[in-house]
Amino acid sequence: MMKKYLIFLCVLIIFSCNKEKNIKYEPVIIENDNSKPKNIIFLIGDGMGLSQITGAMTVNNDEINMSKCKYIGLTKTSSADEYVTDSGASGTALSTGHKANNGSVGVDANGNPVLSIIEILEDNGYSTGIVTTDRITGATPAAFYAHQINRYEYENIACDLMKTDIDVFIGGGRKNFDNRIDGLNLIDTILANDYHVLYNLDNVSNINSGKVAALIAEEKPPSMLDGRGNMLSIATQLALKILSNNPKGFFLMIEGAQIDWACHDNDQNYMIAEMLDFNKAIGLALDFAEQNGNTLIVITADHETGGFCLIDGDLTLNTIEGAFASDEHTAVMVPVFAFGPGAENFIGVYENTEIFYKFINQSNISSN
Ligand code: MG
Ligand code: ZN
Repeated sequence: MMKKYLIFLCVLIIFSCNKEKNIKYEPVIIENDNSKPKNIIFLIGDGMGLSQITGAMTVNNDEINMSKCKYIGLTKTSSADEYVTDSGASGTALSTGHKANNGSVGVDANGNPVLSIIEILEDNGYSTGIVTTDRITGATPAAFYAHQINRYEYENIACDLMKTDIDVFIGGGRKNFDNRIDGLNLIDTILANDYHVLYNLDNVSNINSGKVAALIAEEKPPSMLDGRGNMLSIATQLALKILSNNPKGFFLMIEGAQIDWACHDNDQNYMIAEMLDFNKAIGLALDFAEQNGNTLIVITADHETGGFCLIDGDLTLNTIEGAFASDEHTAVMVPVFAFGPGAENFIGVYENTEIFYKFINQSNISSN
């Protein structure tokens, strides 16, 4: 009797261990569930805390597009191994629902690959897209498709992107595809996979369908102060045009990446310029959602950067006086703004990992 029990226990343990390492997610498609949004647009302001938002609002004549969202929450951002997260761990929490160690992307705290919301929805017939003002291989976008213990393995991350079928990806980091240490040319792979390959967004008005890979800078895209112009807005509109062709729906992640870089530099003017650029992309997403009627918008940050605070300002002159307490990330909770069908699920105070599960619950799939 005891022996039988022990064998049963062993089988149970082995089964559980296998389950832990198995990254296959087997959702069931529920057809015609009209209570859920068809499309999800997820906007991440890297390093965007409440003071960055307030400062940008003040400078922008006391207006910011996020304030159109009536459902607001707060997330806790600590990683698996540190009180203060990095963008790899927090991106992974948002994209996979798993707390990860700082420095990793798309793997859990034990280093095991975990599927992202983009990989899961792609497997279920959604169109997917990633738009960023970072390299496309940067930690935040990488968390949505790559599985690497080291977020700085850009060439491996680019190879991971080749294993997906993401319909639209736009960002910098071209070098990681066509000027690699290992000599591989991944642009050939992208072309073989039937993408429109672009190196700038100058002539995108005639691209209405198919897949788009736009690598608009060798490494980091320029900052707003260095003339990036309206790249993020054009990329957002192009992604929405392409992805909305799919009657089953889409998931689009848009990152305002350089809010973080500006705050690392303790550069208030740079931060405000990046916030206002991100605000425009948010406005375009909200316009799309208002017209479409069946699109959920969620706007958040992966963490705050710089310990930015507003010491003084003037609402008649639209000026602020800010100060930074740090040139690193901080542990303060970050806001979540939600709009559209399902937005009410995003209120409250919760871990950043919950956002992934809320997306799964709002999508037209469910786990069995
Ligand atoms: Mg980032
Ligand atoms: Zn950072």
